[in-house]
Amino acid sequence: MTILDTQTTTFTATSGGKSLATAATFDVINPATGRVFAQAPAVTPDQLDEVFAAAQSAFEDWRTDEKARRAALSAAADVLEARAAELGAVLTAEQGKALADAQIEIHTAVAWLRYFATLEIPREIIRDDADAFEEIIRRPMGVVSAIAPWNFPIVLAMWKIAPALLAGNTIVIKPSPYTPLTTLALGEVLRGVLPDGVLNVVTGPDPLGATMVSHPVPRKVSFTGSTAVGRKVALGAAEGLKRVTLELGGNDPAVVLGDVDVAEVAPQIFWSAFANNGQICLAVKRIYAHESIRADLVDALADIASSVKVGDGAAEGVQLGPVNNLPQLNRVRELVDDAVANGARVAAGGAAGEGEGYFYPPTVLDGLSDSARVVEEEQFGPVLPVVSFTDENDAIALANRSEYGLTASVWSKDVEHATALAAQVDAGQVGVNGHGRGVLPHLPFGGHKSSGIGVENGPWGYNSFCDMQVIAGPPRTTA
Ligand code: NAD
Repeated sequence: MTILDTQTTTFTATSGGKSLATAATFDVINPATGRVFAQAPAVTPDQLDEVFAAAQSAFEDWRTDEKARRAALSAAADVLEARAAELGAVLTAEQGKALADAQIEIHTAVAWLRYFATLEIPREIIRDDADAFEEIIRRPMGVVSAIAPWNFPIVLAMWKIAPALLAGNTIVIKPSPYTPLTTLALGEVLRGVLPDGVLNVVTGPDPLGATMVSHPVPRKVSFTGSTAVGRKVALGAAEGLKRVTLELGGNDPAVVLGDVDVAEVAPQIFWSAFANNGQICLAVKRIYAHESIRADLVDALADIASSVKVGDGAAEGVQLGPVNNLPQLNRVRELVDDAVANGARVAAGGAAGEGEGYFYPPTVLDGLSDSARVVEEEQFGPVLPVVSFTDENDAIALANRSEYGLTASVWSKDVEHATALAAQVDAGQVGVNGHGRGVLPHLPFGGHKSSGIGVENGPWGYNSFCDMQVIAGPPRTTA
């Protein structure tokens, strides 16, 4: 077993269980330094014919034996768990997140694999009596094209890989060009654990992603990324009438009522907004705080922000690493500068530090109107705007006044009341006294409105990788 090391390892694409040679490579930047530290293979759109052919050919056997699939997924979980420290270090180097968080990401992917490896799929017999037999069968679709973003490359890949493979499909996955290495490593460490061609990994600059959508072989496209690219994926998939699941952007509100204990909720709200530097689709991205507690909440959030250790994710004790890439850093700067130019007060942070690396301190903004760009748009970075309200109906209306509807949360000492308000928010998941509480392998995750189409996770996510088939016939029993 070769130890993965970004200084010495040559990362390769995986096709048909083997490494796929490419004529060119592309640069991978460590966001903590802003410097190139590794190369990734630039698979060309033309090479996808070979990769999809390998996946198509593996499908014929893979689809036949559910028990073998479960055993292979469990074995894959064991291997990933054993390599978590190495994979985590690669993830930190390319993504920026703190090493402990990178390792948690690998372990979370393991948990997802184990969940699907053991997920019971009960038979769906609708009728079985003296007159008729009716059953719904879930059949694999064939080859899946899976495309992932740079914020959680491994977890979000696994949300696709595990259910797609359990259902009997084979898969070709492409990570973001900003974070190619850990997914390439995933493909490499699982060679020989999963049968050849079942899991294929390609990396390369776009238009590789667009070609994965339009290519004739895949029957299903599972995409996680921005709403803008999600629209292109939907259009690209329409031509071949491919099934799509789209997990897209969010601008997730937290509505904080006047009866909360500020000292108790502030740390929870802070980390719901700033974990992974706010680069989480379901991060709290705007707070609506009741005017009676707004100032205290802003102070408490600002105190935490000022105490957080920001630095190279590989360094001991660092809690937040750099922003993942320069365009994203520039976007955060632009949104903060725009808010300040329009009268926002910076309660913490507010300016990028000097020196190398894409660092931006956790920033809390107060005194904004709901029409500020940083409130209306998805910032996807370490900045949190707090907007005041006095009437909770207005707060719910403001929470819903967005093209997005991914997740949300309502915070109050009165759990019944908060739960009733939660049901009024138009989002795929709404937490009560917690944000993202429902992000678990057994619960459906997916957005309303422009936040996506379809869901991942649980039996619902599994079913999204299957075609339904009705078998209807004469009685099979003498009941
Ligand atoms: P992105 O849309 O820019 O890229 C996502 C992936 O799509 C990358 O792998 C990229 O190479 C690929 N891609 C680019 N153009 C393509 C095309 N025309 N066809 C097919 N694929 C193409 O997103 P990003 O910047 O990597 O990630 C951030 C965004 O992802 C944010 O908006 C965030 O909210 C969203 N996100 C959503 C979820 C969710 O579950 N809903 C989870 C994480 C991130």
